Amino acid sequence: MNTRTPALKSRLPNVGTTIFTVMSALAVEKGAVNLGQGFPDFDCDPRLVDAVTDAMKKGLNQYPPMTGVPVLREAVAAKISALYGHAYDATSEITITAGATQAILTAILAIVHPGDEVIVLEPCYDSYVPNIELAGGVVVRVPLTPGTFRPDFDKIAAAITPKTRAIITNTPHNPSGTVWTRAEMLKLQDLLAPTEILLISDEVYEHMVFDGQQHESAARFPGLAARAFIVSSFGKTYHVTGWKVGYFAAPASLTAEFRKVHQFNVFTVNTPVQYGLASYMADPKPYLELPAFYQRKRDLFRDGLKRTKFRMLPGEGTYFQCVDISAVSDLGEAEFCKWLTSEIGVAAIPLSAFYGNGFDQRVVRFCFAKKDETLNTALDRLAKL
Ligand code: PMP
Ligand code: GLN
Repeated sequence: MNTRTPALKSRLPNVGTTIFTVMSALAVEKGAVNLGQGFPDFDCDPRLVDAVTDAMKKGLNQYPPMTGVPVLREAVAAKISALYGHAYDATSEITITAGATQAILTAILAIVHPGDEVIVLEPCYDSYVPNIELAGGVVVRVPLTPGTFRPDFDKIAAAITPKTRAIITNTPHNPSGTVWTRAEMLKLQDLLAPTEILLISDEVYEHMVFDGQQHESAARFPGLAARAFIVSSFGKTYHVTGWKVGYFAAPASLTAEFRKVHQFNVFTVNTPVQYGLASYMADPKPYLELPAFYQRKRDLFRDGLKRTKFRMLPGEGTYFQCVDISAVSDLGEAEFCKWLTSEIGVAAIPLSAFYGNGFDQRVVRFCFAKKDETLNTALDRLAKL
């Protein structure tokens, strides 16, 4: 009998285990404070757990509609309309997904044909490139401006060709924490106006914008909204990253194509969690208060970093803070993060993980979505460097 497993030609030959998984595993192994992978170490609002539990107890445990339960789609449409002034139709333009990760993959599979070019702005979240490759698309990497991580519209314009199908943007930005301004969004709108290019706008950190700045959702700009898949994540907003529920908003014609893929990709998303989220969303306070909640943590963390030799980069949004390590170590970013985790007991993420060519600019990322005592323990350890 032949028991040999047939050989496989990898569809993603360059992909290994993600840096987030690697660093979290090392943090556990070494007993380090994990400021690497982005997730809170505190619990969500117990009212949200109660709302989901109530839905389960009411027997809302079977398949929901493929597009998401109507009450949640309506709550999302109402929120977008109130905050960003664009009225999406809850029936034909809002879809509930198994997290933002699935929304982004599904959107790419729905729109990218083999050979189509998709522009990503590096550093970028690590799922974008493998997603484009799975669809047979050609990844076109455009760097954000080194040092400031602001978009360079001349470089983006130069990357556009007749084959460009889409561009993926992300504001507030993981890993740099920059937040696009209204002027930058208007430039993007002008640049795309004469083209057929679609926009995948990753806005998972939409409610983490600091210092009175506002989140510039693509939904605020009619010329962008008309061509955009806007993606967000309840995991980030409500401190429940493990629930993996998100949504996207897009014009009906784009949504129709998305849903063709979605129905054979996941078909439906966790029913009681959707009902729980819908009833919890009736109160806007939790997401309206999130900027202040995280701004306080950012300030605590940045104040503590002043005691260290790290040079801080700006932190306008997200729950990430980047630092330059040049004054602390001669190691490359990845080696430094492993050393910091193993020897100092604090895990971080190297920025090189967000570049295709492993570009090393001596910058690492910390996540400050942690209890104050966790942040203080990490800061005490970092101050000794
Ligand atoms: N985009 C960015 C920029 C992220 O940081 C994350 C968080 N991992 C995601 C997408 C994925 O979000 P989700 O956990 O909802 O899949
Ligand atoms: N978005 C989170 C981060 O950037 C975690 C993502 C993941 O583990 N895939 O750290």
